[in-house]
Amino acid sequence: MVATDVLVGFGSNLGDRCGLINQALKRLADLPETSLLKISSLYESAPVGCLAQGAFLNGVVMLRTFLEPRPLLERLLEIENLLGRVRKQRWGPRTIDLDLLFYGHAEIVEASLTVPHPEINQRLFVLEPLCEVAPEWTGPIGKVADQLRIYRELNPEASACWVVAAPAVPDVRKVTDGIFYRYSQS
Ligand code: ADP
Ligand code: MG
Repeated sequence: MVATDVLVGFGSNLGDRCGLINQALKRLADLPETSLLKISSLYESAPVGCLAQGAFLNGVVMLRTFLEPRPLLERLLEIENLLGRVRKQRWGPRTIDLDLLFYGHAEIVEASLTVPHPEINQRLFVLEPLCEVAPEWTGPIGKVADQLRIYRELNPEASACWVVAAPAVPDVRKVTDGIFYRYSQS
């Protein structure tokens, strides 16, 4: 059996966001048959949609796992539940959101699992950290670094996503130095 590299997006806008993210990362690193390879910086952005709610912290991790896609998704939803996620409204506030962005190069379309995640290319707060950990990653419509460039070209006003911190997870180094200053200085 061969392990698969997967990318998981995480986000939080309720409660102790950094603390919740660090707990989620710890649990991801502790998943069976799984190791955590890379973590992005944390990116802060204003909430999408018209609900009044707090700003989000988002990031992306790369895992290497022997878990199949559906069992992995179940583990992600389990971690969300353990960390107090309550689903009330779509796009509503959440203690922690874990999305399976890519599972290797698998393409899955099912009622409860779509991979690659269908909204990757519409979300700067996903594309930015994704390109930090895996700029060369190629999905069905091309390299993620190209998707980020295209997003920026189509949305020249978009600047509401900036790096605020590195996650405090032991044994995992931040991948790209310098990116810390890209948005916080402007
Ligand atoms: P969103 O992340 O779009 O705000 P939710 O986290 O509330 O929405 O949606 C979670 C549901 O979406 C899960 O119950 C899960 O079955 C489904 N889903 C489908 N594809 C994915 C995916 N790639 N990653 C995470 N959840 C997914
Ligand atoms: Mg989700």
